[in-house]
Amino acid sequence: MLCFAKKTSPAIRVVLSIALFFFSTTAFVQESIDIKQFNLVAEQVEELKKTDLVLSLKQLTAFDNLLSVLTVEQNLLYFKLLAEIQIEQNRYSAAKKTATKGLSIGKKLASPSILMSELLYLRGFAFESLGDIPQATKEYKKGLEVAETLHNKIQVAEGLINLGAIAYLTDNYKRSLILLNDAYNIAGQTDDEELKGTANTELGIVYAHLLQDEQSMAYYQQSYLHFKKAGMLLAAHNSLHNIALNHIHNKNYQQAITVFKTIITESNKDTPSDRMFTVYSGMARAHLKKEDSNPDAAYEYLLMAKQYLQFSEKMFHQLKFYFDEANVLYKLGHYDDALISIARVEKILANHKEMTLVKKEGYVSIINLKSKVFYKQEKFQQAYETKSKVIALTDKLYENEDNRSIAQVRLQLEAEQADKQNEILNNQKIRYEASFNEARLDNEEQRIYLIISALLVLAFAWVLVKLIQSQRKLRVASSIDTLTGIANRRSLMVKSQQVFKLAKAKQVNLSILMIDIDHFKDINDKLGHTIGDKILAKVAFLGANMVRKNDVFGRFSGEEFMVCLPKTNMESAMEMGESIRTCINKYAWQISLLDKVSVSIGIATLTDDKDLISLVKRAEEQLYQAKASGRNRICGQ
Ligand code: GH3
Ligand code: MG
Ligand code: MG
Repeated sequence: MLCFAKKTSPAIRVVLSIALFFFSTTAFVQESIDIKQFNLVAEQVEELKKTDLVLSLKQLTAFDNLLSVLTVEQNLLYFKLLAEIQIEQNRYSAAKKTATKGLSIGKKLASPSILMSELLYLRGFAFESLGDIPQATKEYKKGLEVAETLHNKIQVAEGLINLGAIAYLTDNYKRSLILLNDAYNIAGQTDDEELKGTANTELGIVYAHLLQDEQSMAYYQQSYLHFKKAGMLLAAHNSLHNIALNHIHNKNYQQAITVFKTIITESNKDTPSDRMFTVYSGMARAHLKKEDSNPDAAYEYLLMAKQYLQFSEKMFHQLKFYFDEANVLYKLGHYDDALISIARVEKILANHKEMTLVKKEGYVSIINLKSKVFYKQEKFQQAYETKSKVIALTDKLYENEDNRSIAQVRLQLEAEQADKQNEILNNQKIRYEASFNEARLDNEEQRIYLIISALLVLAFAWVLVKLIQSQRKLRVASSIDTLTGIANRRSLMVKSQQVFKLAKAKQVNLSILMIDIDHFKDINDKLGHTIGDKILAKVAFLGANMVRKNDVFGRFSGEEFMVCLPKTNMESAMEMGESIRTCINKYAWQISLLDKVSVSIGIATLTDDKDLISLVKRAEEQLYQAKASGRNRICGQ
């Protein structure tokens, strides 16, 4: 409204009116510019968040103060995009708040909008990631209702996929299969190839859980075709890669070769070099291991892999390459060259002190090969000495393991060592026995290979997730937390459920640790979110390195981790908790303004808990106690 003081002269009034008219028109024009511009920016953000989360967030939040001039639909779009970015950044609590804001604005809408359904799914996903499965289910159902009202098939199928995933997460495989099959059928009625690919991937995952390899592979196969049609080559090849690894795991080397070949044929210059590396080295491995082993072909493929190795800074890739190379050269009878590759492996292992299990097993395996090479070169004394080293290392490696069969193997090795000693004393040129526990050695090689492959899968999943960050569905299907590289909540819970079931059935011990970083909010406030992220990842790394092979360590929520300790009573769990707490508290951070980081740990042991959730809740109560009594401590029932 325009109001002028009575005394103002007409001339001035005219000037003022013009000025005000001009001002209000500019404001109006500005508003319509903002409205138009927002639509443009929203489109850009949608694309940009696939590659650059930080920049997309910056572009989007430039509209922070202009929300009141945007339409309700635009507001919803704003909050949807923001929640998606926050989810990609693992900021689930923030995402939950954002979605809630959007949903409350959405109440102003006269008729339902698909954006409401999307916001409900996002809020559901935030709840799911924060561990509130019942609430997540409610949100997914509400979102599904909206989608059904709007007869939006794509959105309906997405809701069913979300609910289906929740069902297998909570061990309800039958329900999961029903929901996912519905999603599969509905997706089939659309021409959304990405959606079909996702439905197939999820079904593949459920069947993999049910140990139905063939079914699982068939779905992965289908998902491959759909992702390919959708032009999502990377996602498509991820499906193939899963299939190939599965073949290798089942020793179907010829089939693995066929699958790898498809990936190679379809790859182009945009295919990441890490992917090419894993494929070619997988090829080499399969050619070496298959029934009519072909070391020459294996070597050819290794050379191909090597081309991509130079682009890869990943230590695991280097390790795997020289490990494979040493084995192939040994098989080809190029013993001097094999020793060079062995030396490389030893050097990498020596330079990476942070690796624990892989490092130790890697040592055992590579030194073992070294002794075999020495034997072939008729350097018997060296072969013998090297083999003794293997025995000592194996001994050390398994010293903490409560495993009778390993004790037996050790006894066998010791006996054999004594025999060897005698022989050497008797005859300097004694033939070093080639058949030295051959079966066991092969097992060991297989084992280290599987460990390295598993790590590569992790690294690979991480690369994939980084590359297609905005494809939330793929991220859900992945089992790795992008920030920390450890198990994400979904796979943490799936694995823990399995342990829980087994412990219940066999009536054996099981303990849960809940680990929460102390005053992490203050750390973020003081050092910023980016450094906060680094600290979070390091804490995860330190913790994950402390646990044993069969323990399940994963990210439970924001700055909270969970460890599931099979066959562990309260006393041992307290010991484990205490060593994790001390390890993190002792860590010397090379970050300015940061001295110590501490964690509080709550521990509970399985009693008459009817499900995993009740056990986890009890551990959380103990965590609360640990916090209440001063933090940087462990508390157990
Ligand atoms: P307490 O000792 O009681 O646990 O205090 P706290 O500050 O650690 O706990 P609170 O729950 O108040 O805050 C947790 C903080 O963790 C808030 C949130 O910003 C931060 N956080 C959660 N996830 C992430 C993440 O992925 N990265 C970073 N940098 N911070 C995160
Ligand atoms: Mg905390
Ligand atoms: Mg917390």
